[in-house]
Amino acid sequence: MLTKKRMQREAAVVEMMIGKYCRAQHHPEGKLCPECGELLDYTRKRLAKCPWQENKTSCGRCPVHCYKPEMRRRIRQVMRYAGPRMLLTNPIVSARHFLDGRRKKPLACPRNK
Ligand SMILES: [Zn+2]
Repeated sequence: MLTKKRMQREAAVVEMMIGKYCRAQHHPEGKLCPECGELLDYTRKRLAKCPWQENKTSCGRCPVHCYKPEMRRRIRQVMRYAGPRMLLTNPIVSARHFLDGRRKKPLACPRNK
């Protein structure tokens, strides 16, 4: 469960990006293809387990690479495609995501404490 606002925001951004990517590359009807559905599901689970929670930076800057390689490859593809487009279609969401990414990085992973 994503209880923190920060995490809900992150989840919303990811969902938007995956949707954009899938509509353009796989399923123009607007429903996610099974592969992208799986990816979205995976990202939400990772977010729920993220040790940073409210202090989370954007995933691209996170020092903990918690995605397994296959999912990491897929999400990178999505970001590469949807990132620049988001800037045009959802400038406010993008700006906020950028600011979240600028947040001061916590020094140590809470998981290792
Ligand atoms: Zn897809």
